[in-house]
Amino acid sequence: MLDNAPRMTSSAVRVRVAPSPTGDPHVGTAYQALFNLAFARQREGKFILRIEDTDRARSTSESEHMILDSLNWLGLGWDEGPDVGGPHAPYRQSERLPIYREHVDRLLADGHAYRCFCTKERLDAMRADHREKKEFTGYDRKCREIPVDESASRAEAGEIFVVRMKIPLEGDCVMRDVLRGEIRKDWASVDDQVILKSDGFPTYHLANVVDDHLMEISHVIRGEEWISSVPKHLKLYEYFGWEPPVFCHLPLLRNNDANKSKLSKRKNPTSIEYYRRAGFLPEALVNFMGMIGWTRAEGEEKFTLEQFIEHFDIESLSLGGTVFDVEKLRWLNARYIREDYDAASLLKLLQGWALGPEYLEKIVPLAQPRLETLSDWGFLTAFFFADCVPVREEDLTLKGKEPSDVAGILQMSVWRLEELASFDAESIQGVLRSLSEKLDIKLRDLTRPFYVAITGSKASTPLFDSMELLGRDLVRTRLRHAIELLGGLSTKKTKALEKDYRALFTAS
Ligand code: GLU
Repeated sequence: MLDNAPRMTSSAVRVRVAPSPTGDPHVGTAYQALFNLAFARQREGKFILRIEDTDRARSTSESEHMILDSLNWLGLGWDEGPDVGGPHAPYRQSERLPIYREHVDRLLADGHAYRCFCTKERLDAMRADHREKKEFTGYDRKCREIPVDESASRAEAGEIFVVRMKIPLEGDCVMRDVLRGEIRKDWASVDDQVILKSDGFPTYHLANVVDDHLMEISHVIRGEEWISSVPKHLKLYEYFGWEPPVFCHLPLLRNNDANKSKLSKRKNPTSIEYYRRAGFLPEALVNFMGMIGWTRAEGEEKFTLEQFIEHFDIESLSLGGTVFDVEKLRWLNARYIREDYDAASLLKLLQGWALGPEYLEKIVPLAQPRLETLSDWGFLTAFFFADCVPVREEDLTLKGKEPSDVAGILQMSVWRLEELASFDAESIQGVLRSLSEKLDIKLRDLTRPFYVAITGSKASTPLFDSMELLGRDLVRTRLRHAIELLGGLSTKKTKALEKDYRALFTAS
């Protein structure tokens, strides 16, 4: 325990996770949920789920639904949230807009914030200029000088603006973190952060602080990547005259690679949904996440959520070694399957996973035209029940293309599929069709390596429907596996490919 670190004590513990529903439910969210939940349970506090959906372009209700569903699957339930309600409802930020407006107005009235009328063109030119001179690339504060009356009348006249908070021009911000003690940052390196966007939506910073205060959050336990936001947040607490919560930033989850880079889906599956589909058990995943950064005194690595809650001490969390080692997770998962299930309960588990009517009913119509005998079912549909499928590199071919070109095409499809709001057969077909048109390759030819990568064989059930059933995560994993088989893509090659990709697709 560091001397100058704040203590995790408080009479009424209220903690939260605040995911943004902008993509797959991330294992990082589950990791944070686990520590928050355990901390709340240890202190008879409350654990809250808040949906931070102020990014209108990227937030989807599908993603929100998946986040709630995945956390429930893991058994990391909450006391208050958008689905269960609670004393501080609503728990979805898009339903709290008047609250944020009121608080922005308060900051404007008190002179702690100002309207900024700068156009995108001006800001782009300013940034380019700063970059060239190697200066601080933040906003140059031009509009901070606009007199209050002029600012109000320009807004009244309908001029478009954002609102920025005023950051001190000099001095240091001193913040305290439970795991790191005192951290200092000079204010000169902090930008006059936008707190209200031109569409009337708050940014993360404002909404997060206002909600943490109104929802009476006592401890903010979240990922390390948010440390750099703390100075802005502390300033907002000060401007509003509120007591800030205790901050505890959890170390980032990392890939198990040589330089222990930040966990990314380029290297590891990061979606909880992937682990569910690939046949990992929720109790193993929760156990595994608990193991990251915390070792039980007795050294036993297998433990239940209840045991974790009983013994875990957040103040003793180590800052290093938070590696998301999938091999270790597999080992642990295997122990659960072997040690915690008898044949009858394992059968139930398998049925609930993929061998139940719900999934099988969808596969049957795809398989039917290709069955000569019922026993063809086994080999034909095995890939629906697998994580990765065995693929031979020599089958991943495309007429007139080198293996590295095929890898590039598969990678482009990964990016393109990533952008799909809905992962259904029609949209997937649309992606491959547009790829075939842009690359001037017949769709029939283009789909060949896809068949092989996804199903493991050259002919199988219809490709697009099969991809829909497998879902985004297994498809991504298999395409990535195929890219690796074809020799992989170096950083340099990926950069060049990204450029080609942008050139091909930005206009569409
Ligand atoms: N919405 C933020 C996220 O997606 C929440 C960060 C925080 O916990 O303050 O991670």
